[in-house]
Amino acid sequence: MQTTLRKSGKFTLRYRPYTLELRHVFTIAAGSRSTTPVVLTELEYDGVVGYGEASMPPYLGESHESVRTFLDRVDLSGFNDPFHTADMLAYIDQLAPKNTAAKASVDIALHDLLGKLMNQPWHRIWGYNTADTPHTSFTIGIDTADMVRQKVREAAPYKILKVKLGLDTDKMMIETIREVTDKPLCADVNQGWKRREEGLEMAHWLAERGVIFLEQPMPKEQVDDNAWLTENSPIPTVGDEAVQRLHDVRKAHGVYSGINIKLMKCTGMREAHQMAELARALGMKVMLGCMTETSCAISAAAQLSPVVDWADLDGALLINNDLYRGMEVVDGKVMLPRTPGIGIRLMGQK
Ligand code: MG
Repeated sequence: MQTTLRKSGKFTLRYRPYTLELRHVFTIAAGSRSTTPVVLTELEYDGVVGYGEASMPPYLGESHESVRTFLDRVDLSGFNDPFHTADMLAYIDQLAPKNTAAKASVDIALHDLLGKLMNQPWHRIWGYNTADTPHTSFTIGIDTADMVRQKVREAAPYKILKVKLGLDTDKMMIETIREVTDKPLCADVNQGWKRREEGLEMAHWLAERGVIFLEQPMPKEQVDDNAWLTENSPIPTVGDEAVQRLHDVRKAHGVYSGINIKLMKCTGMREAHQMAELARALGMKVMLGCMTETSCAISAAAQLSPVVDWADLDGALLINNDLYRGMEVVDGKVMLPRTPGIGIRLMGQK
């Protein structure tokens, strides 16, 4: 596994590709996969190292190669002080129009570094109370009835399950889960429904079966249909594919009840925090999601979790080969480490 080392001025950036192995083949409306490519980063300043990560599920259009190409262009020699965070991350953002996961890998490493320099975890720097962390949902991908029953049993510690819908198996998925458990569910349709009347009928059917909210029911381009469904639905809707970055929050207001924030979509912790605060100010619900990621990116996202309504931070629980320890889930609840920065340590390290 090849590590690239780039020294620019007072900063040293290191990065290497890594491949996450999923515990189960994961199927959503967009397709199936059993691995996820990630890139692990380290940003060093004055002998202190911050850790970061880019996760690249294929539908986001990034890869080991595209992240490496992006990081090869990063030159921090114009910066002397890591606390000039706004300027540094504005520089990173303008290097390319997209590459949001690559950008997040630098943002997370920089935040970890800053937290270590301040000797505080980010939830404290942001002023959040660890007692307010939510329960995380555990995701059940689309599968056969036997596998769904098995996955639901494996998810015993979790208080809320997230069900992937959007194919022609939606009712089977829910009915199968209801044979095994009466826990609250949330449903992620991943833009799988195409007609709003069908969506509303399903929203009622799901609400009657204990589904508490709906994620991205219809394609994000169908703005009027999603807004109509939100207006009429008995349960709240959350925009995910429709909400990538800070400027999308205002556009989602009036179209969805809430937004799903993910570090890999929005370039990292700085913008994620801004999105959560803006959505709150607009009276919207806030959900915090993730990709399949190691405990590095998951623990970074979790710093924001005390301020959100719903969390789906199961990314590191779905893989076999995590490298870090950080955020943990105890009886389904997100537990934030008190360690400075994003709160991780290498597996096997005290
Ligand atoms: Mg989603």
